[in-house]
Amino acid sequence: AAAGAVPAAKLENADALIDSVETFIFDCDGVIWKGDKLIDGVPETLDMLRSKGKRLVFVTNNSTKSRKQYGKKFETLGLNVNEEEIFASSFAAAAYLQSIDFPKDKKVYVIGEDGILKELELAGFQYLGGPSDGDKKIELKPGFYMEHDKDVGAVVVGFDRYFNYYKVQYGTLCIRENPGCLFIATNRDAVTHLTDAQEWAGGGSMVGAILGSTKQEPLVVGKPSTFMMDYLAKKFGITTSQICMVGDRLDTDILFGQNGGCKTLLVLSGVTSVQMLQSPDNSIQPDFYTNQISDFLTLKAA
Ligand code: PLP
Ligand code: CA
Repeated sequence: AAAGAVPAAKLENADALIDSVETFIFDCDGVIWKGDKLIDGVPETLDMLRSKGKRLVFVTNNSTKSRKQYGKKFETLGLNVNEEEIFASSFAAAAYLQSIDFPKDKKVYVIGEDGILKELELAGFQYLGGPSDGDKKIELKPGFYMEHDKDVGAVVVGFDRYFNYYKVQYGTLCIRENPGCLFIATNRDAVTHLTDAQEWAGGGSMVGAILGSTKQEPLVVGKPSTFMMDYLAKKFGITTSQICMVGDRLDTDILFGQNGGCKTLLVLSGVTSVQMLQSPDNSIQPDFYTNQISDFLTLKAA
C-alpha cells in the first residue's frame, strides 16, 4: 500500500501472508536481534519459512560491518544465514560504485567505520579515511590551507564513532573542489540503538554535517532508497510484488518496501510502538503489523 493509505491491519492470518509471497526481506536490528541479543523465536521462524521454500534476505542500514562480519554475527547468534543473503549498507556503497563503473584509478574518501573499508577493498576500489583519520589533526600548509587528494571522486559517509573536524573538512574539500565528486550516504537513520538504555545519534548525524557544509544532498544507498531493492531483485530475479519487507522502522524499512512495491509488515519488537504507528503525525502505514516475527508460528487462520 502507498504511504498515507489505509491504516495498517493487525496481522491475523500469517499463513495467508506467507503463502502470498516468495521472498522475505528482513531488517536486522529490531527484527532479528536487538544490539547483540537474539529476539525470541527467530531461529524457529526462519527455519519454518525455509522449510516452506521461502527465500530469505537480510538488509541492514548499519554500515559498521561488512557482509562477512555480519555472517559471523549471524553464526554467533546460532542462525543459519549465508553471507550471500546479507545486504548491509556498507556493501551497498561498494555495489553502487560498481554499478556506475566508478573508475578504479579514482579514490573514495570514507567517513565511516571498518565495514565500508572492507567492502570497498573487496570490490577493488582505492580508498582513504576511515577510523584511522579519527586521530588526525588538521595541519595547515604555508598560506593556511589544508591539502586534500584531488583524485578523490566519491565521499562515502556512514555511522562513524571516530568522527571529527578533520574528516568534515577533508570530505567537504573533496566534494566542493574535486569536479564531479560524489557524496554518497550509506544511510540517514536519525538515531540508533547501540544500547537499549537510550537512543544514540545515528548515521544521519554524520551525513548531516557534510550536507551542512556542502549544501549538497547525498545519494543514499541504504534504506529507504530503492538501490538495494533493485540490486537484489535483479540478483535473485525476483518480482518485488512477490516480496514481503519486514522491519521495525517506518521511515526506513517500511518506506523501503513501499518504494519497491513490496508487501510490508511492521514488527513492534524494535523502535516503533503501536502508538507511534497509529499517531496522526505518522503517514507511513505498512500493510500489516505484529509484535514480532515469531508470531508467524502462532497466527493461523481462524
Ligand atoms: N546504524 C547503526 C549504527 C546501528 O547501530 C543500527 C542498529 O543497531 C542501524 C543503523 C539500523 O540497523 P537496521 O537497519 O538493521 O535496523
Ligand atoms: Ca531496524
